[in-house]
Amino acid sequence: MVDDKKLYDEKNPSGPVVTRGYKVWVDRSLCIGAATCIAVSEKSFNLDSEAKAVILKTIDEEEIENIIEAAKACPVSAIIIENEKGNRIFPK
Ligand code: SF4
Repeated sequence: MVDDKKLYDEKNPSGPVVTRGYKVWVDRSLCIGAATCIAVSEKSFNLDSEAKAVILKTIDEEEIENIIEAAKACPVSAIIIENEKGNRIFPK
C-alpha cells in the first residue's frame, strides 16, 4: 500500500492533479486495480488499500507522453487526461 506522504494530494488521492499543464485523475468507480498503469508509469500511479489507483507526487517527474500511455493501457479507461484548455486528451 502506498505511503500517504507520496500522494500528490492526500485529500484527493486519485486526483484531479495538474501536471505540466495537464489535468489528470482516476475515476475510482471504474478502476478495477489492474495495476497496468503502475507498470507503465510507476512514478505516477500506485494502488491504495482499496485497490484503487492513486496519483503520486512524482508524476511531475514523468513525461506527459508516458502518462498518456498509462491511461491508454488501463483496461477500463479509468485514467482521464485533459489539456490546459479543458479538452479531453484521453479517453476521447
Ligand atoms: S490500470 Fe486502470 S484499472 Fe488498473 S489500477 Fe490503473 S487506473 Fe485502475
